[in-house]
Amino acid sequence: MSLCKICNNDLETVISFGEMPISNRFVSDLTEDEFLYDLSIGFCPECFMVQLEECVDPAMMFNEDYAYFSSISKAMEDHFEEMASEIIDIVSEKPSPFVLELGCNDGIMLKHVAAHGIPHLGIEPSANVAASARQKGVHVLEDFFNATSASEIKNRYGQADVICGANVMCHIEDINSVFQGVSVLLKPEGVFFFEDPYLADIIKKASFDQIYDEHVYYFSGLAVSELAKRHGLQLVNMVPQEVHGGSMRYYLSKGSENRVTKNIGALLAVEKGLNLHSLKGYVSFKKRVDSISSDFKNTLLKIRAEGKRIAAYGATSKSTTFLIYSKVGVDLIDYVSDTTPTKIGKYTPGTHIPVKSHEHFILDNPPYTVLLAWNHKREILEKEKEYREKGGKFITFFPEVTIE
Ligand SMILES: [Zn+2]
Repeated sequence: MSLCKICNNDLETVISFGEMPISNRFVSDLTEDEFLYDLSIGFCPECFMVQLEECVDPAMMFNEDYAYFSSISKAMEDHFEEMASEIIDIVSEKPSPFVLELGCNDGIMLKHVAAHGIPHLGIEPSANVAASARQKGVHVLEDFFNATSASEIKNRYGQADVICGANVMCHIEDINSVFQGVSVLLKPEGVFFFEDPYLADIIKKASFDQIYDEHVYYFSGLAVSELAKRHGLQLVNMVPQEVHGGSMRYYLSKGSENRVTKNIGALLAVEKGLNLHSLKGYVSFKKRVDSISSDFKNTLLKIRAEGKRIAAYGATSKSTTFLIYSKVGVDLIDYVSDTTPTKIGKYTPGTHIPVKSHEHFILDNPPYTVLLAWNHKREILEKEKEYREKGGKFITFFPEVTIE
């Protein structure tokens, strides 16, 4: 039995997906064996955190080969510009502002803060994306954030008015150390906010593709509130975000009760309604996951039986769990179209579907395309208007398999 990484209590297994490869390790040489680990998530009845039972060494996932750049989508660009304006507003009246971003990726957000001449620092362990951030004028410390690096940052730069992180907190196994670091680095009146895929959305949509090696934690307000208390912080606000198929932004402060917003009560009540604080909330999840994966495979089998070809769109990390668990590979999907240069010419982890360029997809014009990057659906349907006008159809799968 695995133990909770936050409070050390026994975890209750929610779902096991079996052996999985590293989700973002696209394969160049098919003769090489892939590293495999057992992917399952558990629920802690004590502190309510849903988490991976077995974690993968971060060095295996985030290194010089790391192929995820945030600045690939207009929707994400807009999202981070909005986040930057909020931060710029918060620090505008501060006498000596300092903004710290955990996991600043390629500088998609901090470049706006930098452009306003606001003192800032991005922490980013992946060398190639950190280099891309520096080119945008962003100050970057190439490191993992924890209690030790936090003390070093405090000694060198002082405490921060804003500490933030997008799609990074859920990646860090030793989250107690991160919260300890935040506690050290945050000014008494400062705000710490972070956003990650939201457990309630995952449960509601059965969007189990969010479950993979990089996502150690699946946050709810109930669990974040418990975690915050352990480190002298308080959850004061939650604001739902549309990105990544449903994310939540959590605001924490060192402050007093009176900073707590009205949003909190209502959102936590919804979470309690979904039973996210008890194993009951997770029982039907596995059934729905199994039903979506078999419906998905059967839909593709039916299309292939009609003699029609199927491609896929978006060689995302998260599609690794979805494709492998649904037992869908090169026998059903000819290739995945993607625009990331470092992925094109390689094969998807585990399923070994060739990754081809977007130009290839346009020329090939397949009759059916599985929309693996379903969280960018609105943007992609708009971009691929012509493909759809010519009769091309997209297949999506959460909360149910749909062809449109
Ligand atoms: Zn726990």
